[in-house]
Amino acid sequence: VVVSFEDQPDQTKASPLRGKNGKNGKSVQTWVVVEVKVPKGSGKGLVRNRDPILTREEVRVPQPVPGQKVELHLRNEVLKRPEGALQLHDLGQLPLLHEPAVLHALELRFRGDCVYTLTGPMLLAVNPFRALPKLYGFERLHSFIQEGKGSKGEEDQNAEAEGIQEPHIFGVAKAAYDGVWHRSLGQTVLVSGESGAGKTETTKFVMRFLALAGAGGAESSMSVVERQVLDSIPVLEALGNAKTLRNENSSRFGKYIELQFCPPEGLAPRLIGAHTHTYLLEKVRVVHQQQGERSFHIFYQLLAAAKTSSNSVEFLSSMPAEQLAELKAENFSYLRNSKCFHLDSDTTEEQTFLETLNAMRAFGLGDDLSSILSTLLAVLYLGNLGFRAPTGNSEASEVESPTTPVTPLARAAQLLGLDAQQLASACCKRTMQAPGEGVITMTNSVEKAIDSRDSLARHLYDALFTFVVSQINATVSESGGAAWSQTVGGRSKLLPFVGVLDIFGFEFFEQNSLEQLFINFTNELLQQYFNEVIFEHEADLYRREGISWDPLDFPDNHVIVDLVGGKPGKSPLGILPMLDEECITTGGSSEGWCSKMQRTHGSNPHFEVVKLRQNNFIVHHFAGPVEYTSKTFVEKNRDALGADLVKCMKSSSMDFISKLFRDSDRTFGTKETVASTGVRRTKAKLYTVSSEFRGQLQNLMERIRATEPHFVRCIKPNQQNIAGCFERRSVVQQLQYQGVLQAIEVSRVGFPVRLKHRQAVKEFICLTPDRTQVESQAARGQLSSAARILFEHLSEPLSPSPRTPGSRTPRTPRRSGIV
Ligand code: ADP
Ligand code: MG
Repeated sequence: VVVSFEDQPDQTKASPLRGKNGKNGKSVQTWVVVEVKVPKGSGKGLVRNRDPILTREEVRVPQPVPGQKVELHLRNEVLKRPEGALQLHDLGQLPLLHEPAVLHALELRFRGDCVYTLTGPMLLAVNPFRALPKLYGFERLHSFIQEGKGSKGEEDQNAEAEGIQEPHIFGVAKAAYDGVWHRSLGQTVLVSGESGAGKTETTKFVMRFLALAGAGGAESSMSVVERQVLDSIPVLEALGNAKTLRNENSSRFGKYIELQFCPPEGLAPRLIGAHTHTYLLEKVRVVHQQQGERSFHIFYQLLAAAKTSSNSVEFLSSMPAEQLAELKAENFSYLRNSKCFHLDSDTTEEQTFLETLNAMRAFGLGDDLSSILSTLLAVLYLGNLGFRAPTGNSEASEVESPTTPVTPLARAAQLLGLDAQQLASACCKRTMQAPGEGVITMTNSVEKAIDSRDSLARHLYDALFTFVVSQINATVSESGGAAWSQTVGGRSKLLPFVGVLDIFGFEFFEQNSLEQLFINFTNELLQQYFNEVIFEHEADLYRREGISWDPLDFPDNHVIVDLVGGKPGKSPLGILPMLDEECITTGGSSEGWCSKMQRTHGSNPHFEVVKLRQNNFIVHHFAGPVEYTSKTFVEKNRDALGADLVKCMKSSSMDFISKLFRDSDRTFGTKETVASTGVRRTKAKLYTVSSEFRGQLQNLMERIRATEPHFVRCIKPNQQNIAGCFERRSVVQQLQYQGVLQAIEVSRVGFPVRLKHRQAVKEFICLTPDRTQVESQAARGQLSSAARILFEHLSEPLSPSPRTPGSRTPRTPRRSGIV
């Protein structure tokens, strides 16, 4: 007999849920397989040793001690054989649903290359970390496109789908496609998971399916727009992805892609346009990366091309040889400091670069290519700008004298279409409007000058990214003639689209700052929506069907959502609105904000003051507590690019550059008012990163709520990103913070098995001695009443029959009902 408990060494130090001391907020129990000796008839077991063969039952032991006696409950027959798990497409079918069984089933399926598993309405996708061509090839894609065609009713389609197809991401994409086609309802595929769990790859499979569905699965039949939608992916990845310690190709921005289909009349709908919304590009990566990580791919791609393929890129081939020779990653401090230049994978970056350029040309960026590349190089040269204090004045700064024939200052200025002196002075000085005194000029210390330089580099890159995304959006919706709304009865109505959300999962590092609070707040909102959909709809269904419903302890996180985001027009203000207040207060500071928060939210059970670290606070998120370091919150939330730098950039002789900043007028203009005049409240709409982000989130949630949701939870099987390794502790943590275990908990207390009336009659009619009444109802198409009569018969006490040898003890009956 085999049972299991957690006794394994900690393998998950790198997990985002683990804090400094290897501790995290929630104690997570996992299970390993061990062998126990059971003295005959005792029902107790003695744990002896581990059994690596994962084919046995597991039970939970709360506080395991090797050698401890444990009680055994052996119920999950289905998991005793690995083949059983491979057929277990929906975890809801587990005869006994509990955490170890779920974990075990997922592992067995993972080892059998069944990486997709359903839990009710949610698809779990375990990253295989190796290519599975059969799983995603043409045949498979085509079989999903064809699925359901030629069958009559919806029920037939369901039966067919349930019977034939395994859970698959293409199945989710197909369901979304059908929702648009047959019901004209907008759809959203919400993909979540930690970094490296496979969100972006999943998103790509969905997009690929949707681009190919209307073309019958054949790439050669794809329209220009369908192709362009897929081509936009590598461009966004080149500019927005980077190598991190957790993922070689980590997306450093969130995205929501809306795919528009032609009005679904008659033939299969085709993709006619797309719009990508992006969120929170991690622009600080431009100036700083952790050791072993890289900046955005595009920089390395450009430099690789400068080395080997300069002839095929006009911008590079027209560059003087001496400058071309400078273009090495090692020469740029923004790339050099993290001591990581190469990807582990064998992609050749220059080849990827040439492909990226081609894709950009297809998006109408051909004329701007040289300006885009020149902006990228300018960002790198800015990083090489050194400052020093003039003799005897530590409060001032000047650009260091040249150490190379052409200084980084001259290079950056030339690439940005600026005068070198003007650029230097915008970094080293700042002007201010003093009340009643006109404009005064102040010097920047070396530290401040460096901040200005970095801030300029970050804003330049961010503006470039925004420009490219908006160009892609303009092209992909224009060329398809996409009409996002239709006028129906004088009112404009949004046409159904399929949205695909690929956004950072819950984050918990050793040091957590404003970025983590934004990400975790986003995840709270998505979790709140998930709860609403899964749990509240469940309760609603029971109510509508008139079935008794045990009032459940619903997982409900609205208190945390209100704590962070606040309730509009209600006090107390949430953490983020309070931060905005602090940012517009003269002399506002992160410390001030932190102490005000402690006074306001100190009694909230989801908020905690850290006694030993005054400037830290803890938010108890649904996924566990996270300690935030408030130190830089105010500064980051203002994200001010000095007025002088904005003015300087606007004066560029390059139209491209001045336009990048002209377009940002609203943003920078209002910030300028706030930062330089010190006015407590300006009439102009106030800009803070938080207010902008919350606005975006509100818009996102409104769009998602107007659609039918499909949830995909990506799971990272191990923290080393290797194939064939399944670390249970890490997986169970992910199941926990993605709400999967909570969802399972709900189906355990509700009705775990749901059959169509037709199916119930078919499966159970053999149990009744009196079939006539049931059959006659069924023959007249009265399936609901046939099922009712059948179950009324079955619930009458049966005369006891002698047990046949070897038959199993009947299990505790579950709740059942007819709806
Ligand atoms: P995330 O977006 O969640 O951070 P990615 O989608 O970038 O993660 O996936 C990380 C890596 O995992 C990919 O680069 C790829 O190597 C691998 N991967 C993810 N999904 C799959 C899959 N379905 N099949 C094979 N490999 C995958
Ligand atoms: Mg990603």
